[in-house]
Amino acid sequence: MEKSYDLHSHTLQSDGTLTPSELVQRAADKGVDVLALTDHDVTEGIDEALQAARQLGIRLIPGVEVSANWEGTTIHVVGLDIEPGNEILERGLAGLRQQRNDRALEIAAGLEKAGIAGTHEGASRLAHGKILSRTHFARYLVATGLAADMGKAFKKYLRKGKPGFVRSDWCSLETSVEWIRAAGGRAVIAHPERYTIGRARMERLLTAFRECGGAGIEVVSGSHTPGGVERFGRMACEFELLASRGSDFHSPETTWIELGRLPRLPEYCVPVWHDDFAAGSNGDRPEQV
Ligand code: AMP
Ligand code: MN
Ligand code: MN
Ligand code: MN
Repeated sequence: MEKSYDLHSHTLQSDGTLTPSELVQRAADKGVDVLALTDHDVTEGIDEALQAARQLGIRLIPGVEVSANWEGTTIHVVGLDIEPGNEILERGLAGLRQQRNDRALEIAAGLEKAGIAGTHEGASRLAHGKILSRTHFARYLVATGLAADMGKAFKKYLRKGKPGFVRSDWCSLETSVEWIRAAGGRAVIAHPERYTIGRARMERLLTAFRECGGAGIEVVSGSHTPGGVERFGRMACEFELLASRGSDFHSPETTWIELGRLPRLPEYCVPVWHDDFAAGSNGDRPEQV
């Protein structure tokens, strides 16, 4: 039978709610054969996840989701099959986490100006001393009744133009790809349909990404529409990028996104796992498809 790949997921090391062991157990229960753990800007959970995967007989691909910036837009770049602990990657991620800490203080200051005090403490408690994400602020705003749900918390307080929004430089797109490649990984643009950029800019983004060594894009994502799958499937072919598939699972509470519960890749795409993640490859396309 065809293997089930889910190459984008989170734990409480970043803004998910499950431990690495719980995540891998859930993936196994949901029939996932190959899972990538891709926490935001941190590789801390990978060891535990690898161990759990070994015990359960599924394959765990070490990964990360790097926060990058391209022409003023935040772009998430997933690194697949990375070597955790690689010095260049880890140094880069440590810098991003520092930016996250600084940004969290500014987010809290912005919210305080809008009359909402105590959000830094609240979000920090929910993050258990791990990296601070806007997700933690959103969860806190929901828990205190200031927002009805996560979507509204982002819309009202945390998006561009709202009191808790702070622009961040992260790293450049090229740098994110450099770090991932230095760690032996394949760089993949996460959830392209989520970026509010038009067709022409998207084409420029994919061109720039390909030129600096990017390997692929997520064609199938938990947040993609059927139209988006088709559109980005075609663009992957056009720009000679490999195609990835990942739920972007964060929490069982988000009931509309589940590990492994995704459409198949369009048959005309070359999967990012086409060589079964052969060692020593940064995800070059096969000579013949
Ligand atoms: P950050 O990287 O700290 O800026 O936070 C971005 C994270 O917020 C993403 O990785 C998502 O997990 C989450 N997020 C963004 N928009 C929404 C939304 N509308 N509803 C729920 N979660 C969201
Ligand atoms: Mn997230
Ligand atoms: Mn993302
Ligand atoms: Mn993600």
